[in-house]
Amino acid sequence: MNRFDESDAFEGASLSARAMAARPAPYLDDLNPEQRRAAETLDGPVLMLAGAGTGKTKALTTRIVHLMNTGRAGPGDILAVTFTNKAAREMKERVGRLLGQPAEGMPWLGTFHSICVKLLRRHAELVDLKSNFTILDTDDQLRLLKQLVQASGIDDKRWPARMLAGIIDQWKNRAWTPDNLPASEGSAYDGKGPALYRQYQTRLRELNAVDFGDLLLHVVTIFQKHDDVLRQYQRWFRYILVDEYQDTNVAQYLWLRLLAGGHKNICCVGDDDQSIYGWRGAEVGNILRFEKDFPGAAVIRLEQNYRSTPHILAAASGVIAGNRDRLGKELWTEAKEGEKVRLIGHWDGEEEARWIGEEVESMRRGTRGMRPYSLDEMAILVRASHQMRAFEDRFLTIGLAYRVIGGPRFYERLEIRDAMAYFRLVVSPADDLAFERIVNTPKRGLGDKAQQKIQVTARQNGVPLVEGARILLEDKGITGKGAAELRRFIDGLARWGRMVGDAEFSHIELAEMILDESGYTEMWQLDKTPEAPGRLENLKELVKALEGFENLQGFLEHVSLIMDNEAGEDGEKITLMTLHAAKGLEFPAVFLPGWEDGLFPSQRSMDESGVRGLEEERRLAYVGITRAEEVCTISFAGNRRVYGQWQSQMPSRFIDELPEAHVEVLTPPGLYGGAYGAAAGSGIESRAAEANVYNSPGWRRLQARGGERPMSQPSEARHRVIEAEAISAHTVGERVFHQKFGYGAIIGIEGDKLEIAFDKAGTKKVVARFITGADDMPF
Ligand code: ATP
Ligand code: MG
Repeated sequence: MNRFDESDAFEGASLSARAMAARPAPYLDDLNPEQRRAAETLDGPVLMLAGAGTGKTKALTTRIVHLMNTGRAGPGDILAVTFTNKAAREMKERVGRLLGQPAEGMPWLGTFHSICVKLLRRHAELVDLKSNFTILDTDDQLRLLKQLVQASGIDDKRWPARMLAGIIDQWKNRAWTPDNLPASEGSAYDGKGPALYRQYQTRLRELNAVDFGDLLLHVVTIFQKHDDVLRQYQRWFRYILVDEYQDTNVAQYLWLRLLAGGHKNICCVGDDDQSIYGWRGAEVGNILRFEKDFPGAAVIRLEQNYRSTPHILAAASGVIAGNRDRLGKELWTEAKEGEKVRLIGHWDGEEEARWIGEEVESMRRGTRGMRPYSLDEMAILVRASHQMRAFEDRFLTIGLAYRVIGGPRFYERLEIRDAMAYFRLVVSPADDLAFERIVNTPKRGLGDKAQQKIQVTARQNGVPLVEGARILLEDKGITGKGAAELRRFIDGLARWGRMVGDAEFSHIELAEMILDESGYTEMWQLDKTPEAPGRLENLKELVKALEGFENLQGFLEHVSLIMDNEAGEDGEKITLMTLHAAKGLEFPAVFLPGWEDGLFPSQRSMDESGVRGLEEERRLAYVGITRAEEVCTISFAGNRRVYGQWQSQMPSRFIDELPEAHVEVLTPPGLYGGAYGAAAGSGIESRAAEANVYNSPGWRRLQARGGERPMSQPSEARHRVIEAEAISAHTVGERVFHQKFGYGAIIGIEGDKLEIAFDKAGTKKVVARFITGADDMPF
């Protein structure tokens, strides 16, 4: 007998329970048969392994509702793990909607971390903590590690504490405590890693503190060592559900396996093609061996995609097919054909941002033969967060409302604010807030006490802090290493200040000099945490942003204005986020900029992890494309400026992997001296751009793929753009415009031929390419 048979599982249940289970379940009608099986197979292990947009999360949510509606479980009996707090909130809302009442009291629906905090507070004493333990942030964690590193006599220039932090983090992801650390890790951190790890854990206990990785690690340890506690929770969490299972790390995996060990009512859903957190210790192998861990698991595969159009789906499938290490899945959709994936190459990153800004505006108006899209329906997904800067600047300039999800906006980032504080202090030495922010960043041996002395001296003399520091030094109120470093800092400020008006140095050179000579850049270069390279890229991006201004002051003003602008605006906004943060989400229209080799796929990821890294990047491309429901626009720049130097870029290899039949190559208007080239009076520049772009290997590749070289006549070229973009799915009844026959309505569609009843010219068959949406016309 099938062990998942409802009647079998419920045999012998009370009458009320059986009546409860037999209640109508209208929410199941929204599911296809396979999804339904996932939602209804309540007992035993279930694995839903399916591609993007096939309704995994929807089925999972419905399963929660079904568990409750059939009386199998109360809200408190269900453990549901999502990847982000945002996803948890959304799932709660959806459950509430389906149940027809707010899903209150689902205390165990959350992320691994949020759930583990709760568990650990209940059992803290089992790992020698008190239940009011504090959770350290990365700064505190680092400070602690630094103390230990220094005390052990290690040269922390060669072996930065941040590196140790990264190593310990990876160990914790693998659920390795100091006690069960494998011998193979013995050489880590100059052979001192294991001992320091032990000291660090001891120190944390003394402080009644945990770091982020401990949350899971401690709970796993408790479950492993205290069978009674484990069994209590096995009984308690009668049903376990996990979304995005492909991105679990070893510690999370062990945690789940322990909890599900008794009843084995665990339902995991995921997609091996969307595993994108390998760099943080995620093991895609977890999902692939589910059937081994849970023999007899019901494995459900979903193939119908409900999110995207066939073109988008085919493009995503074409790219991911390049990965060898995958299960391989076929996806299909009933959605109407829609737009092809649009591909466009730009002269440089700024132009890319400018074009996307304009395109967003036109899509809002519903031009280009497409329906209008609100800003809320559009998203820009970038590979690296520093890419956001160009868009943020552009959108602020043209007044386009945007939101950044999953991270601070560019100018709010820690390293950018630090760097800006340096610039501010150089331009206005009386800026005490800036002084406070950076006087000991990087560390100059100026602790709270020294900083207080500076404050007091400044107040007594009625001068800014910089001045106060100078007086303090003269009076020998501060001595030792701190004094020498403070002097260097103050002398630096004075020197850079003198250079502000010096025509010999550009403000860009000055900015670089400030960041280098202050030791600020070096601080991040020495930093071995995973975020450090991103921060360095952001700093480079900041210097790049300076190029648009005449001097530092102008730039600082610009930033303070734009930061001011932003406060608390409601209304629709376009979303700006990284590809990583976009997992699980969907948007009608998606822009994927910066598809250039080195940027995407990221050079770093390829250098560090070789083919594995490249395959993870490709999965990221798959995640990106499959976020789009109706319109997906991929773009790249032929050149990017790095420290004022043009660098020619190759289009991403993923572009070549897009199946040609599903891609439409758009022609950027800026390249033939029309549009903004002429408006800016920079015909030469744009011709230069043209020459440069066409000589770049990237463009040769693009042309070889069918991209046409733009024509020299602006009007003709414009016509071609409209023509190219008019190829889209039309619908019967749609109002259209034809160059020769004027306005009309579509009465029949046959492949790319349309039968149109023209207002003046009667009924005619025309090729779709030659018509354009009536709304598109300016008259
Ligand atoms: P991802 O892999 O990106 O996380 P997913 O498999 O979790 O995707 P969902 O987000 O659950 O997919 O669903 C994608 C979209 O398809 C959603 O808008 C959802 O409402 C819709 N959808 C899912 N299943 C069905 C269905 N049976 N009928 C109609 N729409 C559906
Ligand atoms: Mg999902």
